Amino acid sequence: MKTKELFKDKTILSYEVFPPKKATNLSSIYHTLDELKELSPDCISVTYGAGGGGNHSQSLAIAQSIKDSGIPAIAHLPCIGMTQKELLEILQELEQRGIENILALRGDLPDGQYAPGDFEYASDMIAFIKEHGDFNIVAACYPEGHIDTKNKVEDIKHLKIKVDAGVDHLITQLFLDNQDFYAFKERCELAGIEVPIEAGIMPVVNKSQIERMTSLCGVKLPSKFTKMMDRYQDNPVAMRDAGIAYAVNQIVDLISQGVDGIHLYTMNNPYIAKRIYQAVHNLI
Ligand code: FAD
Repeated sequence: MKTKELFKDKTILSYEVFPPKKATNLSSIYHTLDELKELSPDCISVTYGAGGGGNHSQSLAIAQSIKDSGIPAIAHLPCIGMTQKELLEILQELEQRGIENILALRGDLPDGQYAPGDFEYASDMIAFIKEHGDFNIVAACYPEGHIDTKNKVEDIKHLKIKVDAGVDHLITQLFLDNQDFYAFKERCELAGIEVPIEAGIMPVVNKSQIERMTSLCGVKLPSKFTKMMDRYQDNPVAMRDAGIAYAVNQIVDLISQGVDGIHLYTMNNPYIAKRIYQAVHNLI
């Protein structure tokens, strides 16, 4: 099923997983998925590259298993360094596996020299995919602006180009202040971006996790969040519970304000996903 169909009559709830770093740990992801499937997912996405090693076929095999269990699957696909020929082969594999949804990404630019490939931006890959298959295209967006962009106005202009290239639904990077999301939604409306936007929520349950995210993607830490971290960082159980409560608060507010969907960055932790699901599922 194409994800654009999901938004017709409800707020959607989706989960993100990443393939295990070692192929020998593959069974752990299927165990995680079995638990996530109990949490009424509208769809589940599988990363490629970010956070996990592996190869395209491993990510696509996981996505296929999700789809085969009756849940729409989204395969993440970064295009950095990719040639048109390689992309055509991956599109063929996606078709063979019956995966209809692609999260089309540029990917983070590697440090130092690298082979640029045939696609500079995600929008270039999206236009190419649209010419070569009948896929539903999901893309990334950034409530606080993408880390490489000069300013938020430029970022929205680039997002509009990307959406016009053929995006069916957007998912945001994590954010910790819902006001950033609402201001971003307003900029999207002004720019004529009308596709559904899922809010990406990451429950932050330890300090190193958020330090990694801030250095990687420049997420702003609101003072109520840093106070929480300062108070609980030396008590892992309290930190975990506070992080879950913070995410639940964000989600309750977002749903109350009519968000199109919530995309939960599960970090492959079904326990935390379950706690959040139990707290919010009656609101959806
Ligand atoms: P783009 O949309 O191409 O934008 C990249 C930058 O270029 C932005 O600064 C943008 O403003 C600018 N830009 C875009 N178009 C133009 C233009 N025409 N002219 C000038 N500038 C332009 N990474 C992975 O490697 N694997 C994953 O699985 C993965 N999953 C993700 C899932 C989500 C929901 C999100 C939010 C991010 C994910 N990422 C993943 C990270 C992503 O690859 C990085 O954030 C990357 O740096 C940007 O990718 P993009 O597709 O948003 O790029």
